[in-house]
Amino acid sequence: MAKYCIGIDLGGTFTKFGLMDESGRVSSMFQIPTVLDKGGEGLIDLIVLGGNRLMSQRSLTRDDVLGIGIGSPGPISIKRGMILMLPNIPGMENLALCDLVSRRMNLPVVLENDANAAAYGEYLCGAGKGVSDMVMLTLGTGIGSGIIIEGRIHHGRHEIGAELGHMIVEADGEKCNCGQLGCLERYSSATFLTLYAARLLQSDSRPSVLREMTKSGQALDARHIVQAHKQGDELATQVWLRAMKFLAIGCINICRIFDPDEIVLAGGLVNAGSDLLDPLTKLYESMHWKLTGVMTPIKLARLGSDAGVIGAAGVAWTALGSGPPDCSAHLDEPRNEK
Ligand SMILES: [Zn+2]
Repeated sequence: MAKYCIGIDLGGTFTKFGLMDESGRVSSMFQIPTVLDKGGEGLIDLIVLGGNRLMSQRSLTRDDVLGIGIGSPGPISIKRGMILMLPNIPGMENLALCDLVSRRMNLPVVLENDANAAAYGEYLCGAGKGVSDMVMLTLGTGIGSGIIIEGRIHHGRHEIGAELGHMIVEADGEKCNCGQLGCLERYSSATFLTLYAARLLQSDSRPSVLREMTKSGQALDARHIVQAHKQGDELATQVWLRAMKFLAIGCINICRIFDPDEIVLAGGLVNAGSDLLDPLTKLYESMHWKLTGVMTPIKLARLGSDAGVIGAAGVAWTALGSGPPDCSAHLDEPRNEK
């Protein structure tokens, strides 16, 4: 009888592997650098290598494994089990990932969008454990998201739903890489709040410790801004609170559309902890609907960068097993984002 599902989180730098048992306990996690220059074949080889290593480490046979769940960046077709393209990796066009891996591993394979998989991981085993409806925003170089409604991942009619980083939060706003104007990602992701700070440092004569921090030629990043904001730096605080204001608007919109049990925030920016949650919650509460007393809580994710691999394995259990794993035995301690 099968006892495990394999979870795989395909990343631009590393691909992470892990095993999940029926109780949602995850073990044997490791990562391999993602092969970027050998096209689809190189990627399939990498997945098969990792999958086989995982099984041999634990002396598992095919009979011990129910199947494989893969979280991949997109665009992908979940229904067809295909990667349609990977913008940063050539040779991935219309790659029949599920079929190719399934043939080589002799196991069923299910595909999921990486941001959805991470949200599902948090839903099953992290900040969303025990709730029914959860929306997660991952605040990193961009803003990824996942929507869980009544325990199921929402994909949308064309499998391009849950792109909340590209909801418009300012009419005629700044141009996003996606082509729209005023996307949330353009204001509240690590990349763009840093760009805004760099712009202000050019045009604004106010003194700022950010100038000192980057004097030695070090590139400005979101950590500098949080650190300077904590030190009471006026310019850094302006940058940070602007990002929090647009994030609060995004969270209000999420409440109006989905009315979830909770909103979960993940990604590198959540390392700011209370420096993120306190100003965000204040702005969010000030904008919140007064028609009802309901105030959807905003929480920080608990699984860090493991959420994707945990969620991918969870997706496999849900699709191939007798339903979602019961994660009540899983680690309850928050982990830091790596
Ligand atoms: Zn956009």
